[in-house]
Amino acid sequence: ASESKEPRKQHEILVCVRKRPLNRKEMAQRELDVISVPNNECLVVHEPRKQVNLIKYVDNHSFRFDYVFDEECSNTTVYQKTARPLVQHVFEGGMATCFAYGQTGSGKTYTMGGEFHGRQKSPGDGIYAMAAKDFFALLSTPPYAALKLKVCCSFFEIYGTKVSDLLMPGKPILRVLEDGHRQVQVVGLTEKPVTSTNEVLAFLELGNSVRTSGQTSANSMSSRSHAIFQILLRASQNNRLHGKFSLIDLAGNERGADNCSANRQTRLEGADINKSLLALKECIRALGQRNSSHLPFRGSKLTQVLRDSFIGGKKVKTCMIAMISPGLHSVEHTLNTLRYANRVK
Ligand code: ADP
Ligand code: MG
Repeated sequence: ASESKEPRKQHEILVCVRKRPLNRKEMAQRELDVISVPNNECLVVHEPRKQVNLIKYVDNHSFRFDYVFDEECSNTTVYQKTARPLVQHVFEGGMATCFAYGQTGSGKTYTMGGEFHGRQKSPGDGIYAMAAKDFFALLSTPPYAALKLKVCCSFFEIYGTKVSDLLMPGKPILRVLEDGHRQVQVVGLTEKPVTSTNEVLAFLELGNSVRTSGQTSANSMSSRSHAIFQILLRASQNNRLHGKFSLIDLAGNERGADNCSANRQTRLEGADINKSLLALKECIRALGQRNSSHLPFRGSKLTQVLRDSFIGGKKVKTCMIAMISPGLHSVEHTLNTLRYANRVK
């Protein structure tokens, strides 16, 4: 019913937090839920601190965001408040980006709808699918129908400094080039024309299977790379770009903090992830301050490939959904995530 309620301010950047429920394993281990959500703009972390003379002290950290989604919220609610207004923006000729940020296991992929386990779990109720559905609905709706647009999609991943195409057999590594006009291009990136939500989901499933193949644990690989799915609107006549929506399932932010791992490769990966998440934060902050002349987009591959979505001359809207786990054992990562999201605002 509150679906049409607009954010209080006219946001260029919307920063939201989603708390997932305790899972079965955590419940079995009697994990404490340390997060409370007093209302849909506020969140409190209750962190047991120390025990002196048997008195437990609790540090309460409270945060405000544009929206806070508690564990009862469905993907549909999250979608309606976050990504849905961005779809409209893209039809109006804008660039939009929606990030899922947070530690591994906090619900990024669940929210995006990127779980494909032989279709056992339905990906149909995530942000990817709901956005795709709205793209095809708006395509034939006035006034947009008159624009004669077509929909295309691309899907790639960034692992370290390598960009690879998830819609091309063999997952080839692509070059990222900046032309004389400071336009950045991922050279040769596949763009598939699509005409239905099911086609979009089929490409997502294909890309996801390529993404994790050859890995012992699907989750460990996906937590170390950023997955970028893009839905583009182009003019049917001359292929000109009308607008673009990037949906990004970011690498687990706990990886960025891993600088004391015994494994050298893991440490290097952590450093890359850290660098890209920091650069992303700086870019989004600069955008928010309408000071886009000094966007530090060169700070990482991630921000570099997003350059046209940040300062491509078209209107830009960005949304970040920070995912958090509710448990006491995640409290350090949760506070890191909330502080990051707070800085982005
Ligand atoms: P991430 O992609 O951040 O590593 P996942 O999306 O894979 O995390 O979520 C970890 C687990 O928690 C998955 O089994 C997922 O189904 C479950 N989960 C995440 N968020 C929710 C939620 N809001 N409601 C129910 N289950 C969730
Ligand atoms: Mg994931």
